[in-house]
Amino acid sequence: MVQKIVIVGAGPAGVLLAHYLLRREDCQIEIYERRSDPTLSDYGSDRSFPISLFPRGRLALQKIEGLDKKVGDRGSFCQGSLMYSGKGKTRLLSRKEPLLTIDRNNLVTALLDTLREKYESDRCTIHFNCQCVGLDTTENIVRFQDKDENRLNVNYDRLIGADGARSSIRQYLQEQGKLNARQEYVSDAYKSLFFPRIKGDLELAPDKIHIWRRPGNVTVLLVPQFEKFLSGVIIFPADRNPLEPLKTKEEILAYFQENFPVFARLMSLDEAEALLQNPVARVLTVRCDRFHYGDRILIVGDAAHAVSPSIGQGCNSALEDVLVLDRVIEKSAENWSQIFSEFTTTRLADAHAVQELSSYSLPRNKRLMFEFVLQIMGRRFLHKLFPNSFKPFIFDLLANPDLSYSEILHSSRNWIAKVKRSQKAKIE
Ligand SMILES: Cc1cc2nc3c(=O)[nH]c(=O)nc-3n(C[C@H](O)[C@H](O)[C@H](O)COP(=O)(O)OP(=O)(O)OC[C@H]3O[C@@H](n4cnc5c(N)ncnc54)[C@H](O)[C@@H]3O)c2cc1C
Repeated sequence: MVQKIVIVGAGPAGVLLAHYLLRREDCQIEIYERRSDPTLSDYGSDRSFPISLFPRGRLALQKIEGLDKKVGDRGSFCQGSLMYSGKGKTRLLSRKEPLLTIDRNNLVTALLDTLREKYESDRCTIHFNCQCVGLDTTENIVRFQDKDENRLNVNYDRLIGADGARSSIRQYLQEQGKLNARQEYVSDAYKSLFFPRIKGDLELAPDKIHIWRRPGNVTVLLVPQFEKFLSGVIIFPADRNPLEPLKTKEEILAYFQENFPVFARLMSLDEAEALLQNPVARVLTVRCDRFHYGDRILIVGDAAHAVSPSIGQGCNSALEDVLVLDRVIEKSAENWSQIFSEFTTTRLADAHAVQELSSYSLPRNKRLMFEFVLQIMGRRFLHKLFPNSFKPFIFDLLANPDLSYSEILHSSRNWIAKVKRSQKAKIE
């Protein structure tokens, strides 16, 4: 029997999920997205940020023919990171395997373009500018509002909330007592950055992530995109935003000239103005006690388990969700009465593990950070010599998609406990 599956949210998880489901003849998909169609807007015109895709996330893309290549063509492969010191010196941290980085909006447009190329409109429709505003679980109806404030009632056989960390579907289920979720803001906030990579005689390397760290936990991170652009973020503690006192574009430019002189050379007064107007964004983490309601509703990706971006796993785990769901559908011989509850059973522990890893892998104090770098180098060296006695350290484990997040957390439990203790001690 044909299943009408409504997906809320056309982010990486929602659109990749549509690709997977449409491989099955019996699925008809409708996607509803609050924002406008990103394939129609100018690159860099929207608030976005770069995403690093590890083998885990890329494995989920690779199962759909042509997708990994399309994403690769629109991103950039970074061979390492260039760290810029306050005195203008640079230090290269090279990588063995190049890392695919792509601006979030570019990732979504690559997924959407391929979806449109592959599937006829009668099996898959995408409705932009449609925000989910209500859910009736008795009648199996989800409500949307378009940009002219017209209301739309849409019935579904299955409903999947892929609507991000502030998921409306999760919120409705929570309000109706159908699942429990805990939400917390991470202590850092950020503003998106978008700049030319080349200006005058300054050209930043096209195959490196560019990082500036300054006192007060302020970091600028820029990643090359396409040929001539850099997309990135300035990250700072939410309660100590260094840009807050700055009221004019001239003051913004002067702040960057003083604190990030190399980067400031890429900035014109117009770009300083754009940065001034760009809103400060906060990151929310989410921990749920289940991901489904009955056999009709499921949440995936950030809606189900948003994490701190500190170790770059949010999108990777969101894409992996789709792969896991696909395996569950396969295993249950497409028996939809079991699929969603089975997804919770299969995925819950890993979702909690990736949250723990994301919150507590990277220490915030200098001494532990030094130990962290030593641990990575030392374990790499020892693992090479005695592979059976020494496992690699967290980042190298995360790069292995054959290891689940729960296994990685188990192997790293002593380190995670140490970082947790240091953070608790700081609060007390
Ligand atoms: C600064 C920063 C850096 C990051 N870096 C990395 C990284 O390096 N690696 C990594 O793996 N992850 C990274 N992440 C995390 C990553 O961006 C997310 O995990 C990923 O985007 C989740 O995908 P998603 O599809 O689940 O949700 P989202 O990308 O949030 O997409 C959800 C979609 O749902 C739509 N929506 C929301 N509400 C509604 C509604 N009511 N009705 C209809 N539509 C709705 C939204 O408009 C959006 O398009 C980073 C995040 C941040 C903030």
